[in-house]
Amino acid sequence: MAKRVYLFNEGSKEDRDLLGGKGANLCEMTRLGLPVPFGFIITTDTCREFFEAGNKLPSLLEQEYRVALDLVEKKMGARFGDPGNPLLFSVRSGAPVSMPGMMNTILNLGLNDEIAAGLAEKTNNARFAYDSYRRFIQMFADVVLDVDATRLEKELERYKAEHGKTQDVDMSADDWREIVLRFKSLVDFPEDPFEQLKLAVQAVFLSWHTPRAIFYREMNNISDSQGTAVNVQAMVYGNFGDDSGSGVAFTRNPSTGDRHFFGEFLFNAAGEDVVAGIRTPLPIEALREKLPRVYDELYSTQALLEKHYRDMQDIEFTVQEGRFYMLQTRSGKRTGRASVKIAVEMVREGLINEREALMRVSPEHVEAFLHPMVDPAAKTDIVAQGLPASPGGASGQIVFSAEEAQEQSALGAVVILVRRETTPEDIHGMKVAAGILTELGGMTSHAAVVARGMGVCAITGCTGLSVDPERGVATTQDGVELRRGETITLDGSSGEVMLGDIAKTEASSSEDFQTLLSWADKFRRLKVRANAETPQDAAKARELGAEGIGLCRTEHMFFDSGRIDVMRAMILAQTREERQQHLDALQVFQHADLLELFKVMDGLPVTVRLLDPPLHEFLPHTPEDIESLAARIGKSPARIRELTEGLAEVNPMLGFRGCRLSVVYPEITAMQVTAIISAAADAADAGFRPFPEIMIPLVVNVREIRLVADIIDKCVRELTQARNISVPYRVGTMMETPRATLGASRLAPEVEFMSFGTNDLTQMTYGFSRDDAARFIPKYLGEKLIDVDPFVSLDKRAVGRLMEMAVRESREVKKGIKYGICGEHGGDPRSIRFFHDLGLDYVSCSPFRIPIARIAAAQANVGFDATD
Ligand code: PEP
Ligand code: MG
Repeated sequence: MAKRVYLFNEGSKEDRDLLGGKGANLCEMTRLGLPVPFGFIITTDTCREFFEAGNKLPSLLEQEYRVALDLVEKKMGARFGDPGNPLLFSVRSGAPVSMPGMMNTILNLGLNDEIAAGLAEKTNNARFAYDSYRRFIQMFADVVLDVDATRLEKELERYKAEHGKTQDVDMSADDWREIVLRFKSLVDFPEDPFEQLKLAVQAVFLSWHTPRAIFYREMNNISDSQGTAVNVQAMVYGNFGDDSGSGVAFTRNPSTGDRHFFGEFLFNAAGEDVVAGIRTPLPIEALREKLPRVYDELYSTQALLEKHYRDMQDIEFTVQEGRFYMLQTRSGKRTGRASVKIAVEMVREGLINEREALMRVSPEHVEAFLHPMVDPAAKTDIVAQGLPASPGGASGQIVFSAEEAQEQSALGAVVILVRRETTPEDIHGMKVAAGILTELGGMTSHAAVVARGMGVCAITGCTGLSVDPERGVATTQDGVELRRGETITLDGSSGEVMLGDIAKTEASSSEDFQTLLSWADKFRRLKVRANAETPQDAAKARELGAEGIGLCRTEHMFFDSGRIDVMRAMILAQTREERQQHLDALQVFQHADLLELFKVMDGLPVTVRLLDPPLHEFLPHTPEDIESLAARIGKSPARIRELTEGLAEVNPMLGFRGCRLSVVYPEITAMQVTAIISAAADAADAGFRPFPEIMIPLVVNVREIRLVADIIDKCVRELTQARNISVPYRVGTMMETPRATLGASRLAPEVEFMSFGTNDLTQMTYGFSRDDAARFIPKYLGEKLIDVDPFVSLDKRAVGRLMEMAVRESREVKKGIKYGICGEHGGDPRSIRFFHDLGLDYVSCSPFRIPIARIAAAQANVGFDATD
């Protein structure tokens, strides 16, 4: 039979899967000789056993942990259930992957009437004993007995009102004793400590399945089957008096990444008071002033832990009557900027190597370098100041609850979530918010930690603000009222709250960021190109590291106000001559734009896709627009209406678009090819090195490719003869219909590259309309009919299989084909890993995703988990 219970001196940090992250680290710290209150861990395997048995604890488990408990008693010099010398426990969950605040915790377990009296006597502190006791009953009722927490809260409020007390500090020992009596009349509280322990272990296991835990796992891609361990640890007390307290600290600044010890401390407070953000804590320096010896021990401990774990640590500790105890250490969550700075500096310090540094940065975190920041010059109307909990700037409409945040953002609003404090129940609202503002809580509060993890701008501890969700108003210290729906701006980097929508500057890069990207380039195989049409976007893309353009959607070049009428006139032309005349005009625009693009992308490939959308998309639809177009292009409105109606389609996404346009209007294709090749020739004449790639969209069979390739050949021949030039170019196809992927081996001999258009390929594989799927996908996700939106993250099982087959079969018939990807998935880190594994040559994505793609591609190649 496998061992179910481990003492803290029986495991190590390698045992995360079995003992959970928290437990494994408690063991490791014990091994390192740090002052960890002793305890034991019930394994994650036992949790699975519990679920498999229909939520029943294994029959031998109690015997097993009683043996461990005996040893803990010996080590702590106190006894569980002994009123004369009581030992109390904290019981906490701890999953293999950290899930902060997601699972339930019970403190002071082991108290009952007799033992509380004993504790009062032993500590000579009745107030402390009964305060601890009532806290325990409250937590136990909430977590184990599933009693609505507000019932006990209300009882406490009632008592305070009856006795003219306003705050907890006003309560005496007798008051707490009375509260205990009242609480016990409301709940069915078990007096037997061993019964309490058993029920608590069960409750921790069951909390794996609470909605908020499930939601957190979904959001973070954590497997449902892992289960949690249970950590049972001897209690120590931060609320024992003025030489006691609790603190949370980071070995480096989690916001900026600066290499200096950073933390917060509350004197005479339990650990949960710091994390919950109910009181605003003091900077850690306050501890140095008051208890210098403790501070020195803390300081050397954090230094040791960072060196030992070779990563920035987030630690929790308690001081009881001047004695220092370590309660927890784990890799600290950090902002994107901090994660890059810390990773790069740790390489310089010799703690980690370049590959490890790359794996320490999550691709999404890179966005911090790319996000807008509030323009310092534009700051006005600063109405409140809080703590700079998570950087970046955001403006949006005020909402006061997570539900409101979800509702409003579903309607298209950009929202700022304003709360007194946040709890894990608020996560769904925090996720959709552009920014988060809380009245209470420090830099380590729930709001701060979660927002940093998500990369959402946040301000916490905005103590001057008074938030009243019922009235829908937050009032600043100076009496300014911020009302529901009003627009405000948050500067998460300075902690300032401003009225209105304040201008933001573009995100700025840093030297560390560039260093990290250069390492990414060293380790990646997959090339990264941009989806861009304008010279500005292309220039930005190149600056961000694009290695060419993977998709230039030529239709975007015709949507400009000065050009759209020519395009419309061409579409509405009734004779070949008339159409040709407009095509000639369009060719001038197309040529000019492409010339610029080739110049910007000097020396790099530029994939120009032939016209793709249904022509109907270019035409006016309202009577007014039809009238005014008629006047501009000299046709009657009736005629325009008739022609427009003639082009209308029931299902345009599956209709007259892509290379089907070339089949019906070869002259459009000829114009585009002429523009591409002549622009490339002109660019070459001007000393640039253009590498055009002509891409044929929405192909379903090889005959289409041959037809379009013939048009291309003919145009190129005419042009090169007329100008006596030679321009290197390639012809390739988009793989965006299931039929194309299934017939890839027949297409292969005709092309030099294949670029997967995963937007259309997903649409056609699922039969989900790209334009309409947003109406039902949220429901599909909510009902768990799908795990992820397939338009965001590639569905490897279906779309991925089509791609895999296409690559394998086409490679068999023709070597040297280049494979790329130009759908939205090209910028999605999870999809990028798949494309890497598939052996594609490049991904293409929007310019601002390029650094993310570079890092994701390197991580895929280095090959272990970035979240490790
Ligand atoms: C695609 O379908 O994936 C693609 C890139 O083309 P578009 O989005 O323009 O249809
Ligand atoms: Mg497409």
